[in-house]
Amino acid sequence: MIPSSSEDTGNGKVLSVAASSPYGICTMTYFGLYEQPLLANFYITIILACGLAVFWALLDPSVDGPRAAKYRAAVFIALGASGFAPILHAALSPSLTLDGFSMEYVVAQSAFYLLGTAVYVNRIPEKYWSGVFDVWGASHQIFHVLVNVAQVLHLLGLRKSMMQHYTLT
Ligand SMILES: [Zn+2]
Repeated sequence: MIPSSSEDTGNGKVLSVAASSPYGICTMTYFGLYEQPLLANFYITIILACGLAVFWALLDPSVDGPRAAKYRAAVFIALGASGFAPILHAALSPSLTLDGFSMEYVVAQSAFYLLGTAVYVNRIPEKYWSGVFDVWGASHQIFHVLVNVAQVLHLLGLRKSMMQHYTLT
């Protein structure tokens, strides 16, 4: 599902995810490439540019509607790719390691974000038991709980990365 600004459901959510994902991947990149500040800044600049492009795609009426869906898809994919690029770079470069990225936390938080998005987009569980989850347990609430878990995992990963650098140098 590629969100557009004319959709009345979930647009604020898409905006808040769009705002928080550059934050997450910038901090991850900062610590992951801590020994290579120029490279880190290069990737952080690209990530921020992709984040701005997502904001533009969500808010500018000229990229609204089905005709512009491919542009909206492109900026979301670019933002996702901008997060993978520094990890891929570190994995492929013989002089770099993935140690600073705290990959187990990156993987775990991504899983919770994806699960939360899947629950929200598919409206589970109220899709199957209409009316039962109107007050407690609706997909929207489950989504927020899962996103909070992902954010705590992100902070734990950042703490681990930071401690590595601060104890090694
Ligand atoms: Zn919400």
